[in-house]
Amino acid sequence: MTNEYQMRVEPQVAAQENLLRRRIADEQGIDERTIYGVRILRRSIDARQRQIWVNLTVRVYVNEQPQDDAYQRTDYPNVEGRPQVIVVGAGPGGLFAALRLIELGLRPVVLERGKNVHERKKDLANITKTQKVDAESNYCFGEGGAGAYSDGKLYTRSKKRGNIEKILNVFCQHGASTSILADAHPHIGTDKLPKVIEAMRNTILRCGGEVHFQTKMTRLIFRGVRSGECGVRLPISGEELIVIGVEAEDISYSSLLTPHSSKEFFGPVILATGHSARDVYRYLAEAKIEIEAKGIAVGVRLEHPSQLIDQIQYHSKQGRGRWLPAAEYSMVTQVDGRGVYSFCMCPGGFVIPAATDKEQIVVNGMSPASRGTQWSNSGMVVEVRPEDLDDNQYPIANNPLRVMQFQEELERMCWQQGNMRQTAPAQRMADFVNGRLSYDLPKSSYAPGLISSPLHFWLPKMITKRLQEGFKTFGRQAHGFLTNEAVMIAVETRTSSPIRIVRDKDTLQHVRIQGLFPCGEGAGYAGGIVSAGVDGERCAESVAASYKR
Ligand SMILES: Cc1cc2nc3c(=O)[nH]c(=O)nc-3n(C[C@H](O)[C@H](O)[C@H](O)COP(=O)(O)OP(=O)(O)OC[C@H]3O[C@@H](n4cnc5c(N)ncnc54)[C@H](O)[C@@H]3O)c2cc1C
Repeated sequence: MTNEYQMRVEPQVAAQENLLRRRIADEQGIDERTIYGVRILRRSIDARQRQIWVNLTVRVYVNEQPQDDAYQRTDYPNVEGRPQVIVVGAGPGGLFAALRLIELGLRPVVLERGKNVHERKKDLANITKTQKVDAESNYCFGEGGAGAYSDGKLYTRSKKRGNIEKILNVFCQHGASTSILADAHPHIGTDKLPKVIEAMRNTILRCGGEVHFQTKMTRLIFRGVRSGECGVRLPISGEELIVIGVEAEDISYSSLLTPHSSKEFFGPVILATGHSARDVYRYLAEAKIEIEAKGIAVGVRLEHPSQLIDQIQYHSKQGRGRWLPAAEYSMVTQVDGRGVYSFCMCPGGFVIPAATDKEQIVVNGMSPASRGTQWSNSGMVVEVRPEDLDDNQYPIANNPLRVMQFQEELERMCWQQGNMRQTAPAQRMADFVNGRLSYDLPKSSYAPGLISSPLHFWLPKMITKRLQEGFKTFGRQAHGFLTNEAVMIAVETRTSSPIRIVRDKDTLQHVRIQGLFPCGEGAGYAGGIVSAGVDGERCAESVAASYKR
């Protein structure tokens, strides 16, 4: 017999199965020896009061062994010889699109400009060693996309629960811990994600799909509907066109010795190139393929000692103690009509250099599965809309790239402030609020190093003023949060895509060009690992539907 219960227990009971069994037996009035297994279906922490509780939904197996799988398996058939679909980008959008194509009997050919997830690691280490960023292999480019070396947080504001559960189950099938199915705020951890991503690639290959690394899409290949002509020529606005494939460059080391060789891949195209592929956006703009500027959020990474965040959030001088995880927070307010909020919080994590080209500094955060470092960080960002930008500096007329140009400008300014290296400009939090240069900086997890800089002085006023006011509000809401023990590291700009590649809401194809399916975060229709995965699945379904039509 199985029964499901909801219960509220102390953290030490939730963490130890023998104590949990005893508590279930006591509360339900059953003999503990008849409980053969307990599965936690939902888990969330209630830290509103001094006494911390863990809310659980449990499935209890009484007088029977658990037989059911801890997750739902998806069947992936062999798709050799089936019609092929080109997936550009092996981030969560592209990988989930490829797996869903296989489920639907189509053969994915995945093109990824970066390296496989393990080789990519060396280039990440090199950023600290050499203070230089490889423009093709970095924290945003390479197998697994921007999500590969992240916190692997898997929650989303999207409400389509069924789709989200599918994504989480596919992660479990590829090696993620099944705890992600139970936790209210699931995360995988940067140390575990690469193996999961590798397993997803192996599924694609085993089923007859292809994955090409260091293969960069440079242009789309079109066919004119009226003329029937094919080629990479730029589409003339108004003419009806179909995308029939892509042209790509081999950018592997061996090809550096000879001119890059160009290859063609044919099939409908799922374009899942992420928010940092600025060359792709420039190409689309030049080719007059409809894209539009969209709002982003810009600010800094704020890093506190994790013990301080634990003390604040768990209302205890002892911090989290033995049984609780590193504490999270989520802050949001409005200042002068724009949102100011914490973004992508990484408890017990690291701040990392996430630039994608040479003369830039961009910061972001990641954490290992244990979330066990001595720092907790989050993006602290201010909403920026296209109309907030100076029209003289970033002209509106025919300029869908204006928000991207603003991002680029800020990242370059940050690099100049950082002595033209990856050493990031930084300022203590209370000093920033009070408009004072920090004469020293606290120890930080940011490996390339920090340099004291008056962020209050050179960040755009519309960001500085709002962050200063926002921090005061957060300091009032969480006593101890606004402190000089915390350091702000500049600049966080890659919170979402600065561009939307406009698509039809029903077919998910580009508004004008058939056969082109803009997908994931880079298309401006997702933000985060799970929502990019959900969008990847939807794009694959739309390609399959277009084949039927
Ligand atoms: C450091 C960091 C931490 C993050 N932490 C989290 C988190 O904890 N939780 C969360 O939900 N989100 C997190 N995010 C955001 C999340 O990673 C993205 O929202 C998500 O990866 C978007 O998925 P995507 O597939 O749309 O694009 P991406 O993941 O950006 O993937 C795009 C891929 O396309 C490739 N590509 C680009 N151009 C070309 C081309 N011309 N030819 C071939 N390939 C190309 C890129 O190399 C890349 O691999 C984090 C991001 C970063 C940078």
